[in-house]
Amino acid sequence: MKNVKTTPACPCQSGLSYKQCCRRFIEGTHTAETAEQLMRSRYSAYVKKDTDYLLLTWHPDYRPVSLNSEDLLNHWIGLKIKHTHQGTINDSIGKVHFIARFKINGKAHKLEENSSFEKTKGHWFYLTGKEF
Ligand SMILES: [Zn+2]
Repeated sequence: MKNVKTTPACPCQSGLSYKQCCRRFIEGTHTAETAEQLMRSRYSAYVKKDTDYLLLTWHPDYRPVSLNSEDLLNHWIGLKIKHTHQGTINDSIGKVHFIARFKINGKAHKLEENSSFEKTKGHWFYLTGKEF
């Protein structure tokens, strides 16, 4: 008998299933090893409106005091990583240049940002982003 059970694709559009990709980081069973993994998992957390994870992965010097899931966008439609600089398993800083697309009132918009990340005590954190 053929197994037809499908696993949902990861919102970050890595081509992997959510389970194999960002869920591991969002649920805390694994630690993101690269800045790109952390960035992708944060995008997926925005899609899932997981404000706890967003705050947890935001550097304490830069994160907002609180995040309200009702203030987050509703219709994310895709993520494309354009370029990464450092941010590997051997680095302690890194940058990820990405384009995230979303819809507001049916109209598509994009956010293009070069985000900075820093690794502290084995964990990557999002610092700030420079928008284009
Ligand atoms: Zn993912």
